[in-house]
Amino acid sequence: MGLPRVDGSHCNNLAMRIGIDLGGTKIEAVIIDADGKPRWRQRMPSVTKETDNLPEAYQQTLAIISELLQRAEQAEPAIKNLPVGIGTPGAESAGGVMKNCNSIWLNGQRLRQDLENKLQRSVRMANDANCFALAEAHMGAARHAQSVFGVILGTGVGGGLVINGQLHQGVNHIAGEWGHNRLPIALPENERGENEIAEPLQQRACYCGRNNCVETFLSGPGLSRSYFLASNSLVSAQDVVQKVAVGDAVAREVWQQYLQQCARSLAQVINIVDPEVIVVGGGLSNVLSLYDELPCYWRPYIFSDQINTQLLKAELGDSAGVFGAAWLW
Ligand SMILES: [Zn+2]
Repeated sequence: MGLPRVDGSHCNNLAMRIGIDLGGTKIEAVIIDADGKPRWRQRMPSVTKETDNLPEAYQQTLAIISELLQRAEQAEPAIKNLPVGIGTPGAESAGGVMKNCNSIWLNGQRLRQDLENKLQRSVRMANDANCFALAEAHMGAARHAQSVFGVILGTGVGGGLVINGQLHQGVNHIAGEWGHNRLPIALPENERGENEIAEPLQQRACYCGRNNCVETFLSGPGLSRSYFLASNSLVSAQDVVQKVAVGDAVAREVWQQYLQQCARSLAQVINIVDPEVIVVGGGLSNVLSLYDELPCYWRPYIFSDQINTQLLKAELGDSAGVFGAAWLW
C-alpha cells in the first residue's frame, strides 16, 4: 500500500478543519475555521503507558478518537463528512503500519486505515514535528512566510518543511529529519593556517542505530551530556542553561559549542532549502539568546554574502500539534 501524499493538488478550501493530536497523556481534538480560528476544542486522557495489553490499548485509542469526533460533530454539525488530520508520535511506514511511536501499542498497526474504516472519513497523518511546522507556518511565528523549516530542540530533535502552506513529507516520508543527519564536525584554522579539531572527538550512539546524529548533540539530553563531558557533573539541559545565565565558565563554553553545532547543522538545511523562516520549538527554544547568537554562528557556513533567513521562536506552544493536524487538509 502506498503512502498518502500531501501536496497542493489535494488542498481543499474547507470552511472548517478537524485535527486530532495523539499525545502521550492526552488525545486532543480541535475544529478550526477557514481562517484558522479555533471553533471547538476538547481533550481526553490517553491510554496509560502502564498497560500490558497492547491490542486492547490500541482499540481504546481508536475508541477515544471516535468519541472525540462524535463530540466534535455534535458541537459543529457542519463537519460531518469532512476529512480528518491526525498528529501522531511516530511515522507511517511504506507498508502502512505505524513505527517509532512511543505510545508503543500503535506500532505495527494500520492506524490510518483502521481510522478511515471506523470514522468513515479520509484521514491524513503526520508526525509531531511536521504538525508543529505546519501550525507555525499557518498560524504561528512563520505565518507571513512562504517557506518554513520548523525545528524542534527538545527531548529529541525533529523538523518539518512547509512550502506555500503545504507540508512536504517526501517520497520516504522523512523530509525534515535533520536530527538524524550526522553532526557536521568543524575543523577551524588556527593562526598558522593549520586545522585544529574544534571539539573532542566523540562517539555518540543514537537510538536510531546511527552514530553522532545531530540529535545526540542538540537535544536536551545531548546538551546535558556535553556538559557532563566537560565538567564530570550530571545536570539537566535546563540547569546548563541556567548556569550559562549566571556566568558559569564551563557552561558558557559548552553553550558556545552547542551554538556552533546547531549553526553548522542548520546551515546545511539553509544551503539546500533556503527557507524564509526557521521557527524553533521545544524546551531549548525558550533560551532567548539563541535568536541573537545563532545567526552570527551560522554565517561562515552559508553560501551567501547576505542571509535573509529569519530565526524565530515558536508561538503556539503545546497547541501546535493539534492545529497542525487540522492543517493537513
Ligand atoms: Zn539518529
